[in-house]
Amino acid sequence: MSDLTADAVATEHPGAGNPAAPGGGRTVAAAVPAALVTRLAAGVTATGEPDLVETVAPLTGERLASLPQSTPADVEVAFQLARRAQSAWAALPVRRRAGVLLRFHDLLLKRQDEVLDLIQAETGKARLHAFEEVLAVAMAARHYGRTAHAYLKDKRRGGALPVLTHAVEARRPKGVIGHISPWNYPLELSIGDALPAFVAGNAVVNKPDTQTALTALWARELLVEAGLPADLWQVVIGDGPVIGPAVVEHADYVSFTGSTRTGREVAQRAAARLVGASLELGGKNAMLVLADADLDAAAAGAVRACFSSAGQLCISIERLLVHHSVADAFLERFAARTRALRLGGGLAYGADMGSLVSVRQLETTTRHVEEAVKAGATVVAGGRARPDLGPFFFEPTVLDGVTPDMAVCAEETFGPVVSVYRFDTEEEAVAAANSTPYGLNSSVWTRDLRRGRSVAARLRTGTVNVNEAYAAAYGSVASPMGGMGESGLGRRHGAEGILRFTEAQTIATQRLMPIAPSFGLDDKQFAAVMTGGLRALKALRFR
Ligand code: NAD
Repeated sequence: MSDLTADAVATEHPGAGNPAAPGGGRTVAAAVPAALVTRLAAGVTATGEPDLVETVAPLTGERLASLPQSTPADVEVAFQLARRAQSAWAALPVRRRAGVLLRFHDLLLKRQDEVLDLIQAETGKARLHAFEEVLAVAMAARHYGRTAHAYLKDKRRGGALPVLTHAVEARRPKGVIGHISPWNYPLELSIGDALPAFVAGNAVVNKPDTQTALTALWARELLVEAGLPADLWQVVIGDGPVIGPAVVEHADYVSFTGSTRTGREVAQRAAARLVGASLELGGKNAMLVLADADLDAAAAGAVRACFSSAGQLCISIERLLVHHSVADAFLERFAARTRALRLGGGLAYGADMGSLVSVRQLETTTRHVEEAVKAGATVVAGGRARPDLGPFFFEPTVLDGVTPDMAVCAEETFGPVVSVYRFDTEEEAVAAANSTPYGLNSSVWTRDLRRGRSVAARLRTGTVNVNEAYAAAYGSVASPMGGMGESGLGRRHGAEGILRFTEAQTIATQRLMPIAPSFGLDDKQFAAVMTGGLRALKALRFR
């Protein structure tokens, strides 16, 4: 972003701006010393004399790490190593594999401060938002640690012929999962999806975003400490368009989280190889504030919904739909809370919002706000970059008067910017919420919980939170989470989140007589017996 652009936005919206949070905690340099980087970087599969790439700490702009880059040939090596380790792992009883997840759960909670520092250093987010990642991963580790055996055990099914056919549905690991993850939730999105893959008996080759590779490498180290064979989780890092396709090229299944644009490309490559893929993609999520909502709770919820991780959260809210009768009262409360958020980058709890991750995110955010303002939108809160706090800080921003011609109306900003729209009827609100090709998450606020659930049922999104922003649905790890429409394919969490990493295999055993003419019956007699049999099975309500 040019300084000119930042200045232009700042001049349009003079004002006190959000307060700075008190500093505190260690510096990035102290929290991520060179020795730690060297130790973690040793976990990257990169042979020979790899090229090095530098990452920058978004909070301060200082140099963070120099990391080896994997080549497409390294990706091939990673798959070979993973494949070799996978068969012995798959042969272990499920409960032994699940034990690794449960030990990992305990280690993660015990050593959370180490990874909170890394997440903050690599993403620039506030510590509270980094902690959400620890929470999400611990919940997934506990859930699959405790339930994998039930999800994966052989299940007796009704056979072709009662008594004569014994049928069992079994689950086999896919093999080696190609797992590509983005930078915004580096702990949750690197290991959260890998855990069910491992417990189902697979190996994983993970390509995290280079910017946040240290967090993924730390998680790998901890999982190995919890008992995972080291070769089972390979980490390759490098330019997405260069090594991403190589990951898809060798995978038995692809688990991808990232933008809709890249997701389409990954899906096409996976389809060409006839391997499955789950795609967790972008969103333009809406929150509905109904006329009977508790406005203080809704305003507090909207702050969490819109500004967690500075809005760089796939399930965060970028469209606020508010009933006309309460719009002014809600907006007043929401704007006041937004203006009061303390921005800061200390590696300690205390800031309400941190920085954006990169100049790219700052540019998109600034462009969306600047263009909207030029075209007539009003800034209700925030609206400008805060270079006084760090190179990529942008204030939590509320826009009113946004119209469909503005990019911020329909495009994913992936920054701390939300637009407010008013509605008169529930139908109008539901239609507006559904008027996007995306379908990831939504949020409904009302005092009438039955009404909330009935509105939720009409929303075309993979998750809906009633009286919460996103954490209720995301944290309900026994239930599936993912996107409809252009927000993706497949689901993480729950049964779908683990079974996607398996192949179903049916083993049917026939006894006493074949399913063919036998015992002296000719074809016609056999057909008559079977016809009578089918009628009887239906009458007996056989399923
Ligand atoms: P991105 O698509 O640019 O990158 C995601 C990952 O794909 C990175 O590791 C990248 O290096 C890799 N990649 C890039 N080009 C590739 C290619 N041609 N083939 C294979 N891999 C390639 O996304 P991003 O900007 O890093 O992440 C932000 C996006 O992710 C947002 O749109 C956000 O909504 C989405 N997201 C979705 C979820 C979800 O659960 N639905 C979660 C987090 C983020």
